[in-house]
Amino acid sequence: MKTRAAIHVGQNAPQVVDELDLPDPGPNHVTVSLFASGICHSQLHQIHNPNQPTPSVLGHEATGVVTGAGSGVDYVKEGDRVMVTWLTRTPSPGQRPAAVSGWAYRGQPVNFGLGGTATWTESTVVHEQYVVKLPDLVDEQLTSIIGCAVMTGAGAALNTGRVRAGDSVAVFGVGGVGLSCVQACANAGAYPIIVVDLRDDKLAFASQFGATHFVNASIEDPVARIRELTGGVGVDCSFDAIGAPKTLEQFYQVVRTGANGISEPGTAVLIGVPTGPTQFQMGQMWNRRLTGSFGGGGRPERDFPMYVRWFQEGKLPLDKLVSRRYRLEQINDALGDLERGDIAGRSIIVF
Ligand SMILES: [Zn+2]
Repeated sequence: MKTRAAIHVGQNAPQVVDELDLPDPGPNHVTVSLFASGICHSQLHQIHNPNQPTPSVLGHEATGVVTGAGSGVDYVKEGDRVMVTWLTRTPSPGQRPAAVSGWAYRGQPVNFGLGGTATWTESTVVHEQYVVKLPDLVDEQLTSIIGCAVMTGAGAALNTGRVRAGDSVAVFGVGGVGLSCVQACANAGAYPIIVVDLRDDKLAFASQFGATHFVNASIEDPVARIRELTGGVGVDCSFDAIGAPKTLEQFYQVVRTGANGISEPGTAVLIGVPTGPTQFQMGQMWNRRLTGSFGGGGRPERDFPMYVRWFQEGKLPLDKLVSRRYRLEQINDALGDLERGDIAGRSIIVF
C-alpha cells in the first residue's frame, strides 16, 4: 500500500513529504494508521548524523489504530488502538526486532531512524513487539508521547533511579523527557525537585510538573547552586536528560556521597544520549553511583498502562507537556522550532 511520510534524504537536508510504498505485514508485523507522532530531540541528532542511512523515515513514538496484523499476531487485532514505541513490549534478552523490510521510496529501500520503529508517516508497519494497547476513550493524540518521552523520563526516575518519598533530586534539562522525569519524581514524593536548564521560561514551565527549585545554568554554576540548596550535601538522585558534554561533567558531581557503613551513596542517572567526548573525573566517584537508563529501564507492557492511568487521574498532565501540534507538511517548521529551543515540553505531528 501507499502512505505519505516525511523522508530523510540526506544529512541536514529538509525532510521531504512524499508518498512511499509499505509492505504487507509479515507473520509478526502490524500495520498501524497513525493518529499522532512525537518529535524527539534524537531525531535532530539523526538528521545531523553523517552516518544516518538514507532514505529513512524517522520518529519513534506514536499512537494509531491497527489496520492489518500478520497471522502470528495475537496480542492485537484490526481496529485496536495502540501506542507505538521503540522498546520491545515483552523482555527481549537478545536483539530487538529490526526494521520491517520492504518499505520503498522511489524504488530504494527505506531505513528507519532508530531500531525497528518509524512514525513520521501516516501509516507504519512494525514488529508487533513495538505496540502497546491504548485503552478506549483515552485522548489519542496526547498519549503519542508515552512511547519515548514519558517512557524514558518517568522510567528513569521509577525504574533506574528508584526515587522514593523524601528523596532529593536534580534534573538537568527540562524538555519532554526531563519533565516526565520531574513529574514521576513528584508523584513518588521526592523533595526538593531541582531543575536545571538554560532558559527561565523553560524552568518556569517545569513548575507545572512538580519542580520546586530552579537553576538557570546560563547565569549560575549548577554544581555550586545545587550543593547550596541541599545544605552542602548534594542530592540523592541526579538525572542528565541532555547528554551534552557540559551536563555530563556536572550531573554526577551534585550527587551526595555515601558514608562507609552508615549511608548508601546517591545515584547519578544518565538518560540523554551523549553527543560528544567529555572530561570525567573518576576521583569524583568515591562513594557515588553512576548508572545509565536505556529507554527508562522499564517494560512498555507493564509501565504504559500506569502512565495512561496517571494521565487520567491528573498526575501526568500530557495536555501541558504537549505544547505544540503540527501537520505532517509542517515537519520542517517543527524541526526548526525544536532546534531553536522554542518548544516547551514536546511537540507532535497530528495526522
Ligand atoms: Zn525519543
